[in-house]
Amino acid sequence: MSELGSALDELTGLDLDELADGPLLELVGELVTAANRVAAALTTAVRAADRREAHRRDGAVSMRAWLRGQCRLAPSDAAAIVSTGRRLAGMPATAAAFAAGEITAAHARVITKAMTPRRVAKAAEAGIDHTVTDRILAELARRTGPGETAQGVARWVAGVDPDGTLDDAADTRRRLSLAAGTDGRVHLRGELDAVGGEVVRTALTALMNGDRPAGDLRGHAERQADALVALARGALDGGALPAVRGERAHVRVTIDWQALCAARGTPGVAGGELGWAGPINPETARRLACDAQVVRIITGPDGLPLDVGRAQRTATAAIRRAVELRDGHCVFAGCDAPPEWCDVHHVIHWAFGGPTSCDNGALLCERHHTACHEGGFSVSRDPRTSTWHTRRPDGSEVRPPLPHLRI
Ligand SMILES: [Zn+2]
Ligand SMILES: [Zn+2]
Repeated sequence: MSELGSALDELTGLDLDELADGPLLELVGELVTAANRVAAALTTAVRAADRREAHRRDGAVSMRAWLRGQCRLAPSDAAAIVSTGRRLAGMPATAAAFAAGEITAAHARVITKAMTPRRVAKAAEAGIDHTVTDRILAELARRTGPGETAQGVARWVAGVDPDGTLDDAADTRRRLSLAAGTDGRVHLRGELDAVGGEVVRTALTALMNGDRPAGDLRGHAERQADALVALARGALDGGALPAVRGERAHVRVTIDWQALCAARGTPGVAGGELGWAGPINPETARRLACDAQVVRIITGPDGLPLDVGRAQRTATAAIRRAVELRDGHCVFAGCDAPPEWCDVHHVIHWAFGGPTSCDNGALLCERHHTACHEGGFSVSRDPRTSTWHTRRPDGSEVRPPLPHLRI
């Protein structure tokens, strides 16, 4: 990388007025090729980071969010690099042309954007070989500008997907399945008719955009998933749902007292158990016990309940108001989610003797509350300056993204 840096320094130092027109134009051409190669290398590096979720190191929810937050890319540019990288993985000829600097990022974008998995599958059904399409489009991009390449791509799309959509809009069937996977995650699958989809999307969009803070780094899919959970939480807390067996519907979690008190990472400690989704790890159990609208049943070594309830050891309304007033928003570095999205986190967990007080409280949005328990991140307030510091599991500090101005 330092060689690339010194080559660029040399270029910046060139006196262009000394160059004749021929060599100057030659230089411009070489720079375009070099810029394409750098764009291709960037796309490949982002793809590698995206695949192994390297963004989690800085508490970002996606590579797209990381590029926006840490590199200040426009949302559309960040999204384009991530999605181009993902689709290029299955298009070797286009990827090779891009890596050689023969086509621009715009060419790679128009090609990969059209090659949706469903279209590729549909083309395969019609006997159109994906690798042949890849080679033809890469060759077209080598010879034409992005606009003409886009027309060629549009002709390919018209051949595979003539109506421009593979959905049957007249179909009114709806289905939704929720499955608790063996990986501790819950998988959603489903499809809706146009009207049902419009209703769900309208509700989700209202929740997503209602109070979107300036520093919100979550990607679209993450925000949509958060909105779905918020919709359900709102319905449960509002008490508007039908009672089940005479009882108000609520989330129920059973937590082992020993798990709650064990040090982070202690092996062989069971966490807790959710009513339906099953076992959760000790860190998640601690987060739910920290501050949440759930019914907690804490069990002793004999498995018998020690403590049942939702009010105990969660912040009272007065403490919550005081913490909201002091912190103003989520205190995690780079986040300014508003108070209504936040839990009051115990900086020192009550299971370790931390009091439920304003001093020991920190406003954290649900995502960053999760980062602090399950993710091993931590927040602490410097009592002298009243500023919050966010640390990674290895103890290094996450700096809030600030513009890196060089003078
Ligand atoms: Zn907490
Ligand atoms: Zn946050």
